[in-house]
Amino acid sequence: MMERVKWPEGKRSAVMFSFDLDGDVIWRNMSADEPNAGKLIRARSIGQYGPNRCVDMILDLLDKYKVKATFYVPGFVAEHNREVVRRIADAGHEIGNHGYTHERFVEKTVEEQRAIIGKTQRIIKEITGKEPEGFRTPSGDWHVRTPYILSEMGFAYSSSMRGDDKPYYTVLDGEESDLVEIPSKWELDDYVAQAYSVYPAEPSGLDRISCYRNVQDNDIREFRGYYDMGLCIVFLMHPQISGAPGRILVLEEVLKEITSHEDVWIATGREIAKYWKQAYPRKNQQSHKPGSRRNTPDGGGKEA
Ligand SMILES: [Zn+2]
Repeated sequence: MMERVKWPEGKRSAVMFSFDLDGDVIWRNMSADEPNAGKLIRARSIGQYGPNRCVDMILDLLDKYKVKATFYVPGFVAEHNREVVRRIADAGHEIGNHGYTHERFVEKTVEEQRAIIGKTQRIIKEITGKEPEGFRTPSGDWHVRTPYILSEMGFAYSSSMRGDDKPYYTVLDGEESDLVEIPSKWELDDYVAQAYSVYPAEPSGLDRISCYRNVQDNDIREFRGYYDMGLCIVFLMHPQISGAPGRILVLEEVLKEITSHEDVWIATGREIAKYWKQAYPRKNQQSHKPGSRRNTPDGGGKEA
């Protein structure tokens, strides 16, 4: 028998709404292999639409349903949209670290990764007065040492992986570390069903924008599954995609459905990580020291 997770105040399941405020860096990165990289002004304008316009529509909607969300922001985007980031934080939402220019961490050395993460921590703290406690890895995968770096730098959690349907402790050197992972899923990522650009092609090789009714139906069915089983669902959205006028109606229907259940805990990443550490303390509480350098099959000890 699957053991049910206990959520605060006897709630049945948990929901986290998260938004990756990638601005135009993602569309620049996406075109990195293109001969005209950096010159694709229309593609970049898709991303700029997020902070310029959609964030405020999303903030209004979240306020209407009294929902607090988590926004992961690359440092470069925060630097160029200070007022937007401040508005998000002032409305009581959490701001998390999402790299500096949405780097592919797997291609970076340990020192480069530390510098990227640290730079974004400083920028966000300067804007909001608070250093992020959460991290979401940008495009592609993370490096084998990335979770060690996050743990060493004192991050409370990451929301980057796909390994469960509820939070778990990241295993480092064969033992559970203090880094909580709050996993999402590709099927909960609006990019998969709805990101679209003709040139450069996004998604490459496919030509479609999914039917909004189906997207809404998928989101609500996903919620019902997590709700029935008492798990933690993490919606992963991008303002320029889910915050546009037609699509925000989908988000509204999803919010309406979820907030109609009084026994659902809607929380930010920081709140979920904090609760998890308290309610489900990790094994080997004392033994794992971040940064220890034993060799393990997952690549412990390898520096770059
Ligand atoms: Zn992103």
